[in-house]
Amino acid sequence: MKPDLFQAPDYYLLDDLLTDEHKLVRDSARAWVKKEVSPIIEEYAQRAEFPHQIVKGLGEIGGFGPYIPVEYGGAGLDQISYGLIMQEIERGDSGVRSTSSVQSSLVMYPIWKYGNEEQRMKYLPKLATGEMIGCFGLTEPDFGSNPGGMVTNFKDKGDHYLLNGAKMWISNAPFADIAVVWAKDESGRIHGLIVERGMEGFTTPETHNKWSLRASATGELIFDNVKVPKENLLPNKSGLGAPLGCLDSARYGIAWGAIGAAMDCYDTALRYSKERIQFDKPIGAFQLQQKKLAEMITEITKAQLLTWRLGVLRNEGKATSAQISMAKRNNVDMALTIARDARQMLGGMGITGEYSIMRHMMNLESVVTYEGTHDIHLLITGMDVTGFPAFK
Ligand SMILES: Cc1cc2nc3c(=O)[nH]c(=O)nc-3n(C[C@H](O)[C@H](O)[C@H](O)COP(=O)(O)OP(=O)(O)OC[C@H]3O[C@@H](n4cnc5c(N)ncnc54)[C@H](O)[C@@H]3O)c2cc1C
Repeated sequence: MKPDLFQAPDYYLLDDLLTDEHKLVRDSARAWVKKEVSPIIEEYAQRAEFPHQIVKGLGEIGGFGPYIPVEYGGAGLDQISYGLIMQEIERGDSGVRSTSSVQSSLVMYPIWKYGNEEQRMKYLPKLATGEMIGCFGLTEPDFGSNPGGMVTNFKDKGDHYLLNGAKMWISNAPFADIAVVWAKDESGRIHGLIVERGMEGFTTPETHNKWSLRASATGELIFDNVKVPKENLLPNKSGLGAPLGCLDSARYGIAWGAIGAAMDCYDTALRYSKERIQFDKPIGAFQLQQKKLAEMITEITKAQLLTWRLGVLRNEGKATSAQISMAKRNNVDMALTIARDARQMLGGMGITGEYSIMRHMMNLESVVTYEGTHDIHLLITGMDVTGFPAFK
């Protein structure tokens, strides 16, 4: 793969809206990605392997629980810093950002928000350093966009719960030490349970043959009469709103992350357009190529503004789930369109692993689907503005 020459576009001088701390956090994440992710990621993606050696570094740059309080091992940062870290990690690779998102928003967040003090102290510090890796089991073979229909369930057996069912498409599953699993109790109410690797009847087969997020491990979670200790139930929130609260946090991070992938594709295509000569001119001198670049930087700038404002609203505790849906949908679609256009701008070179664009493009095909599909987020916005749910 080519050396990482990335230069971040900032067309509207958005750095002026950031604090010194934001810039410090962003720049150290950016430097870490250049040093530790860019040189190796193409090879790992080609081999469909997760680069385990980067886990410790991810913890050190605040990639695990950036907004979790320091007393639990988190970085205690605000929502904009969290977003900027996700942007930088996804600039490297959406699969690496997926590991970071799952650990932060889908494992640490529910333990922090819905767990008790013993659970927080037991798990959060180890998750923050990456000593322990977690996964989040919501999606099932027959319930993806409609997780409320889940059939995974647990029964109260007096001194423990008995868990049965299966989850699929679970990021980090093949090597996770713990899984935050959403399952129904005997009355049909959804609860979160912490299931630990090694519990009898719990297996995590890996999903193979993905053309997307190849550097992220995906798998199933199978529960065959798993005895879960009662102290592993998250006591402070139940119902579908509990997993959806985690998804709000993760989707917010994805909205920022997608900007990172888009910036990398734009920056690569811009540089290539100045170097590649056809018909005795750099291809960047042709109007059709300028149209692509001009539209890319316009869309990136709009997404940056949308996401920065969303970060301010989240810091103030005012961001709604529907606002987060809008940003996730808009930014991932924006990044995917930019990746496809950038790929074309590199001609035949665009399909090779010499450049990051095709990997971003394939990765974004998962990002546009997971954490609520493109269409489901549109329905959320539609419901928000009309008051009519159009899901059924
Ligand atoms: C690589 C990867 C990693 C993932 N990681 C995780 C994870 O860590 N944890 C986890 O729990 N899940 C994870 N997921 C699952 C992901 O969240 C689901 O794939 C997603 O929610 C969509 O569910 P589905 O694939 O079953 O599609 P479906 O729900 O079957 O949807 C199929 C199509 O129908 C459309 N559709 C569905 N309902 C409606 C409707 N009412 N109106 C109009 N159109 C509709 C959808 O938009 C989509 O286009 C992951 C997925 C992938 C691909």
